[in-house]
Amino acid sequence: GGLAISPAMKQSPSSQACARREQVFRRRIFPEATAADWADWRWQLRRRARTAAAVACALPELSARERLALAKAKVWRMPLGITPYALFLLSLEPPDGPLRRTLLPDAREGRVVQGELRDPLGEKAHEVAPGLIRSYPHKALLLAAGDCACFCRYCTRARTAGKAPPEPARALAWLRKTPEIRDVLVSGGDPLTLGDARLERLLQALRRIPHVELIRIGTKVAATLPQRITPALVRMLRKYRPLWLSLHFTHPAELTPRAAAACRRLLDAGIPLVNQTVLLRGINDDFETLRRLNEGLLTLGVKPYYLHQGDLAAGTAHLRSTMAQGRAILRQMCGNTTGYAVPLFMFDRPGGGGKVPLGPAWAR
Ligand SMILES: *Cc1c(COP(=O)(O)O)cnc(C)c1O
Repeated sequence: GGLAISPAMKQSPSSQACARREQVFRRRIFPEATAADWADWRWQLRRRARTAAAVACALPELSARERLALAKAKVWRMPLGITPYALFLLSLEPPDGPLRRTLLPDAREGRVVQGELRDPLGEKAHEVAPGLIRSYPHKALLLAAGDCACFCRYCTRARTAGKAPPEPARALAWLRKTPEIRDVLVSGGDPLTLGDARLERLLQALRRIPHVELIRIGTKVAATLPQRITPALVRMLRKYRPLWLSLHFTHPAELTPRAAAACRRLLDAGIPLVNQTVLLRGINDDFETLRRLNEGLLTLGVKPYYLHQGDLAAGTAHLRSTMAQGRAILRQMCGNTTGYAVPLFMFDRPGGGGKVPLGPAWAR
């Protein structure tokens, strides 16, 4: 189908109007919940939609395609999980809208096309300690959580989604004795689904390793659970600087007043923000959508860092766009948007060959 534009995006409502709509949704779908519940990230996580019935209750208008896929849990490539906050965003879209396709299952997830892999980045082969992936000489990826606020249907790590991560003790021991590693990227799952205390123990342990100069956290909560960015969390995080956050916004409809407030809080604490987006077929693989997303991110103080060509993850062919399309969009960006808004277009080679840039390629 064509690109559906949600009414929220077209009118770009004021934060007051947005808050009112959120309140109407909360009272209708979660009548027992207070405004304080809605603002509480733990309440949001507890009340995630995990079943077809819960989704149908929150989104009474479903397309035949959405209904069919929701009824076929056996073909889902990963669990279903959508926060009430994200359900609210989906409720603003027409059936089959862009954000709906990132979070609602699709019957085509059960189909695996040639070349697709369960572990597309060969992470198992590069695992130097449980949950620690080293594909580059000087940096490592620590999978610190299995859970996410919401499960993106195009996830590259569907195989571990929702599962408990390994204890970090052995990964930390390996890092301590490997002085080449100057940069640790904490990811998962989403590390910000961990509680403050558990996350702080991990950051503290990393900071105590003298050769780990830079800590990065990869998280999608700014888009799917902005309530997680509490003053207490930010006070804790700022102690472990230099710390960068890599966010994951996919579509301009995610740039809400709550998301903006979460970014502002992090920036005010001196935590720089970049964004990573996956190029998704019919969702954001057109110039106008990515221009609005990336210019919108800049106004929130977030630098668009990577645009990823979809990994060859099993069951994601229906969501994967093409390298040619990504390159064409980047070419169009050149001169037609702020230079800061142009990300690097990356492909993570199957089997763990590492990321390679596909653009911007200015020359034709
Ligand atoms: C993507 C990735 C990183 C970080 O890569 P940058 O290009 O530095 O952002 C580190 N380790 C692994 C295994 C990765 O896949």
